[in-house]
Amino acid sequence: MGKSYHMCLDVRGALTNWSDRNFRGVFTHDDGRKMTPAEAKSNLLDELSKGHEVIPCGKCDNFDFSGEGCLGHDA
Ligand SMILES: [Zn+2]
Repeated sequence: MGKSYHMCLDVRGALTNWSDRNFRGVFTHDDGRKMTPAEAKSNLLDELSKGHEVIPCGKCDNFDFSGEGCLGHDA
């Protein structure tokens, strides 16, 4: 049986390398509104402060936030 993996985002890498343009439209609030670049960066800083080096793209229930990312799901 194969495994599938979620894409993940390198939080520190995005904060270091992305310009405001890259942030636009990538992150949404819980209610679906798009975050502004400033809101998105603030959100990522919160993740780092929780020790989250990577965050999942999409819903993932088997995720290592400290850096490994998605640990895989039975396909
Ligand atoms: Zn996953």
